[in-house]
Amino acid sequence: MPLPDGLGGPGPLADPGACSAPPARRPFGRGPAVSLFSLGTMRALESADQLGAVLAAALAADINHIETAPAYGPAERFLGQVLGQLERTSPTCRAGLVITSKILPGPDLAQAKEQLGASLERLGLARLDNLAVHGLNTPEHLEWALRGPGAELLAWALGEGLVGQVGFSSHGSNDLIAAALASERFGFCSLHLHLFDRQRLPLAQAALAAGLGVLAISPADKGGRLYAPPPQLVADCSPFAPLELAYRFLLDQGISSLTLGAARAADLDWARQLARAAGPLTAEERASLELLLAAGQQRLGADWCGQCQACLPCPSAVPIPALLRLRNLAVGHGLEAFASERYNLIGRAGHWWEQLDASACQACGACLPRCPNALPIADLLADTHRRLAAAPQRRLWG
Ligand code: SF4
Ligand code: SF4
Repeated sequence: MPLPDGLGGPGPLADPGACSAPPARRPFGRGPAVSLFSLGTMRALESADQLGAVLAAALAADINHIETAPAYGPAERFLGQVLGQLERTSPTCRAGLVITSKILPGPDLAQAKEQLGASLERLGLARLDNLAVHGLNTPEHLEWALRGPGAELLAWALGEGLVGQVGFSSHGSNDLIAAALASERFGFCSLHLHLFDRQRLPLAQAALAAGLGVLAISPADKGGRLYAPPPQLVADCSPFAPLELAYRFLLDQGISSLTLGAARAADLDWARQLARAAGPLTAEERASLELLLAAGQQRLGADWCGQCQACLPCPSAVPIPALLRLRNLAVGHGLEAFASERYNLIGRAGHWWEQLDASACQACGACLPRCPNALPIADLLADTHRRLAAAPQRRLWG
């Protein structure tokens, strides 16, 4: 395989010293143990050089788990080139890496085999450590993976030794994730687990108890763009950084590894600092987390939504807790820009995010008696829409 430009000589990956210190690792299902942080390759898409620099920083941060996917554009190809160089400059370091890639649900068996083969070829691998179904988000996806062509593909890939274990990522409902876990087909899962979004934590705990590996999907970005926190959140978390507290909260929950999509070496600064921070929360961290949540609840007052889900199902299919969580973030924690961005993606991201926003509420009142906080849900949904919906774009013609 030809070397990518800039990676042929002594470069950031030429020094194997980064791998010399004893690492912190957590069990990961039926596969090799993984670092507390995982490098996601979805943001280093400019060149193999960029990914090489990010991977060098990841190695310096004790990271041994690299996540990629065909859906991330050139990521697999760049990673294959960088892994090839690492194999030449530091085979021991390369041998210590655990590689995960994914396959989107839906193709028939022949297409799925072809897609997995193409992934392996781009990565320059004969075998993947972990293969995840990418976005097990709907009942049709689950059917594909458990009883359809996906089931045949996963069994074939395991039988042929092309993958070490299979798992899934999901943005779907809790019931769907629970059904996937109950199938006992999977060795690991990637879930949205965040300091400010804890509703999937019981599923994660159940998965860990059953011996699965659990990855948290992007706690920095999807957890509230915590790498660029608003001043109010910084003040509430002091003396800790918001991202530091968010990471430590998840590590304390026993989550196997936290995924971090880095575009540059500096994006891995917290991962480096917390590379061995696997111990329980300190008293100071606990106190800061309690103060942070109390400050948010105080600002929200009687309008605080506890995310208990008791108001569901709504006859109009309004995802009440997800919408009020965004309101909690905006009003309680100053995360208005993040909440607005997420709100305005509703209905525009297919099965990857909610389909209906707060304007779908018919004010029928059916949810009201179910809320233990006696929240005026329809009024709060209307307020959420007023706060977070983007102003309609002005037409420049007509
Ligand atoms: S009031 Fe709105 S959110 Fe509540 S059940 Fe009726 S339509 Fe759904
Ligand atoms: S029942 Fe009330 S507190 Fe619970 S998620 Fe629904 S609105 Fe929030």
